[in-house]
Amino acid sequence: MSTVTRRNLLGMIGTVAGSTAMYHAMAAMGHAQQSSYTGPIKLDGAPQGTKILILGAGLAGMTAALEMRAAGYEVEVLEFREKAGGRCWTLRGGDTYTELGGAVQNVDFAEGNYINPGPWRIPYHHHAVLDYCGRLGVQLEPFVQENYQAYLHRSDVNGGARQRVRDVKADYRGHVSELLSKAAEKGRLDDMVTEEDREILIESLRDFGGLTDAGEYKRGAESAELRGYDRWAGAGADGAPIPSDPVDRDEVLRSRYWEYLAANQITNHQATMFQPVGGMDSIARGFEREVGDLITYNAKVTALQQDENGVTVTWTPTEGGEQRTSTADYCVCTIPFSILSQIDHNLSSGISNAISEMPYNGSVKWGLEFKRRFWEQDDRIYGGVSFTDQAIGQISYPSTGYLSDGPGVLLGGYTWRGPESYKFNAMQPEERIEWALRMGEKIHPQYRDEYKTGVTVSWHKVPWVLGCSGLWNDRERDYADAIKVDNRVVCAGEHLSYLPAWQEGAILSSLDAIGRLHSKIVQG
Ligand SMILES: Cc1cc2nc3c(=O)[nH]c(=O)nc-3n(C[C@H](O)[C@H](O)[C@H](O)COP(=O)(O)OP(=O)(O)OC[C@H]3O[C@@H](n4cnc5c(N)ncnc54)[C@H](O)[C@@H]3O)c2cc1C
Repeated sequence: MSTVTRRNLLGMIGTVAGSTAMYHAMAAMGHAQQSSYTGPIKLDGAPQGTKILILGAGLAGMTAALEMRAAGYEVEVLEFREKAGGRCWTLRGGDTYTELGGAVQNVDFAEGNYINPGPWRIPYHHHAVLDYCGRLGVQLEPFVQENYQAYLHRSDVNGGARQRVRDVKADYRGHVSELLSKAAEKGRLDDMVTEEDREILIESLRDFGGLTDAGEYKRGAESAELRGYDRWAGAGADGAPIPSDPVDRDEVLRSRYWEYLAANQITNHQATMFQPVGGMDSIARGFEREVGDLITYNAKVTALQQDENGVTVTWTPTEGGEQRTSTADYCVCTIPFSILSQIDHNLSSGISNAISEMPYNGSVKWGLEFKRRFWEQDDRIYGGVSFTDQAIGQISYPSTGYLSDGPGVLLGGYTWRGPESYKFNAMQPEERIEWALRMGEKIHPQYRDEYKTGVTVSWHKVPWVLGCSGLWNDRERDYADAIKVDNRVVCAGEHLSYLPAWQEGAILSSLDAIGRLHSKIVQG
């Protein structure tokens, strides 16, 4: 009797039912996971007395430190800043931040308020980040990304008047459903669907698009269930709801608001996500509780040299003092390539090319504190994101502290588009904040009256990374060289993953790098 192997079975499913069915079958069998993370790394057989020097105490560096110490290695970490976490960073009242060029910002937020100038949300399929949060006791809460009550805004649409996400979504969906439904009714899809499927399609579009029984998207009970009411349901003599008027189809299409509609439905940007309670740096603090004793802070690495006997790293205490050296058998370097390219090293030519050729994209974020949560009190917006075509890109409302009195902090802008970032780079912080207020007040006229204080981080000017995330000029040419164990040194970090600009990428890259370094060490 012939037995069917998994591979044969998948092959048969693929042939008969196509690739989607095969993907589902693979997922059901445990293949094709959403992340390459398969659970805690196992590093067995570390040779006694082998020392690993880790450069940088961001999430990549601390993952390496935690796992390599657990495996039995002697570990030392050198970190430029006075604290660990790198880009996993939160600013609160009392913090001071000095950007490249010397501008100092003293954060003056009220007690309990904060802004995450870097990472701020975690998707549900970033299994490694979530697993470490669990292991490190980092408490998570929902991060509201999509809120139908938030606004869409374009300076050239409707005289620059803001529009609720809900209305735009409903109108786009309704009009497209009506068009498709009419096409199906007229038999225009008959060469693509069977008669039976055509009827099902028409029925589903009526349901999905809020269409009338006649297949029309227009003011009435059906459309109002999706787009809302001019007068919402209440009680008393005037309690009956009054449906609202959809915006005309041509206006909906020409507004190009539909460009925002899928923003929170792509794989990495989900309608609801996670955030650590109290600020993203709770993850950094979680790691630091485990490996803080291994870290030398305020240590600026200036040179990295290796030979057949080991690795020697030269560093300078940033608070003053003599230049020092640390030595080890091997090194995991998580210093961003934007900085490593300025450090004296003798890595081999392949990886050196990758290091010197990697540009870092810019990004600017603003944390603005207002005297009261007017977006909740006046606009009834609880979490979520409003989008605008202005350079600030978006405004995001806090997903925590709902309905509380006193000042609240919102994300007053988040841009990563090249030209905008460069323009903001050229400004001093107060000018950047002025622009965020000027643009934000187009969406929220309360801005000027309610503004209290703010902070802004332009990532090209963050001294210890000089950018938001690494980009590849030629990934195909350079990636393999960049990630390989180069004699005694391996590099890791978000830039060396296929999930750049995500913490998941930093952790996965670190696990991959230390796994390969460990194999090399134990194999001699
Ligand atoms: C604006 C922005 C938004 C983001 N949004 C998200 C998000 O929503 N969700 C998400 O998961 N991720 C997000 N990310 C990405 C995430 O922050 C990074 O992918 C991740 O934190 C990178 O970790 P890392 O360890 O690779 O690098 P880093 O965190 O940069 O760590 C490198 C470390 O090296 C140190 N270092 C630098 N130079 C030296 C030197 N000479 N000597 C010694 N040490 C040195 C640095 O101080 C730093 O601590 C965002 C990032 C940015 C900037």
